[in-house]
Amino acid sequence: MEKTNHIGMKKKFDLKAIVRPHIEAIKPYSSARDEYTGKEGVFLDANENPNGSVSGGAYNRYPDPLQRRLKELLGDIKQVSDEQIFFGNGSDEAIDLLFRAFTVPSKDNIIIMPPTYGMYEVSASINDVAIKRVPLLTGFQLDVKGILNAVDDNTKIIFICHPNNPTGNLMQQQDIVHILDQFNGLVVVDEAYMDFAEAESTISLLSDYPNLVVLQTFSKAWGLAALRLGIAYADTPIISILNKIKPPYNISLHTQETAERALEMVSEKEAMVKKINEQRDRVKQALQALPIVKTIYPSDANFLLVQVDDAKSIYDYLLEKKIIVRDRSKVMLCEGCLRISIGTEEENGLLLNALGAL
Ligand SMILES: *Cc1c(COP(=O)(O)O)cnc(C)c1O
Repeated sequence: MEKTNHIGMKKKFDLKAIVRPHIEAIKPYSSARDEYTGKEGVFLDANENPNGSVSGGAYNRYPDPLQRRLKELLGDIKQVSDEQIFFGNGSDEAIDLLFRAFTVPSKDNIIIMPPTYGMYEVSASINDVAIKRVPLLTGFQLDVKGILNAVDDNTKIIFICHPNNPTGNLMQQQDIVHILDQFNGLVVVDEAYMDFAEAESTISLLSDYPNLVVLQTFSKAWGLAALRLGIAYADTPIISILNKIKPPYNISLHTQETAERALEMVSEKEAMVKKINEQRDRVKQALQALPIVKTIYPSDANFLLVQVDDAKSIYDYLLEKKIIVRDRSKVMLCEGCLRISIGTEEENGLLLNALGAL
């Protein structure tokens, strides 16, 4: 296979060839707050309640539909421009909008590499889009040749989870680059767990690859899962399409303000990540000593994939003790495995005691 190298040279990419024509043509809903962005004024344009909020708190005005302040803060941290950032109500919203913008129901297809995150498949099914599966190889790495062979004229998106859920490993960067080079649809790299890994984010490839979408989230390392805030980074034309089709006020004021505060406390996030990664090492070492444990897979995330003797009965035993882990034992290539999130020092102690008593 010919190997092209686009480093320092923007890949040629025809977005028009993959965006759904009716989406390309859509005129977005223009919200009241899109038309006038000033802060001062007598706001009689959006049918809001001028007196305040029943619950207290200043939630009576609609929030910034484009989350400009939040994008400025995040853009500074990630070294990208505001026009390369999209916020969704969780990454899950970004995933769904990518389907709606780029895949034609009952015609197009996407490629996923099982075992991987379940939402790609769920979103594909909701949108009636076919799924091609190219399983990971040993070491849970990408079967690049298999993936490129699976591409046909109707393949619109390839989803790469990096680090992968539920296996915990990073993919090889050269494999991701190769797929970005060879594929003329979207390559979505889901970096939900990247904060826990010691690797450079794929965001660094954005300027070379106009077909790249990187997903990150506030749900894991930032400790804000209940807030529902996910991020898509991409070249401006892709972000414009997502902005055009998103619900106008998809990110609440409370979410925007809370995330703004979080972004001013990056070092607290890093301290939390350090603590979790130390606990990951501790749990891993302790599990290694247990006779019921067969394999602990290397992890660059905040969980461990652990192959045990009789996963189902260990899962049930833990459940009885109100310790809830994820049974992945029926998942392809994860036979006999439990996925165990890293908890606090105390929670991990309870898990290890329970397993040690078996
Ligand atoms: C947890 C997780 C997410 C986060 O989804 P949100 O909707 O942002 O909470 C995304 N991708 C993967 C692979 C995950 O495991």
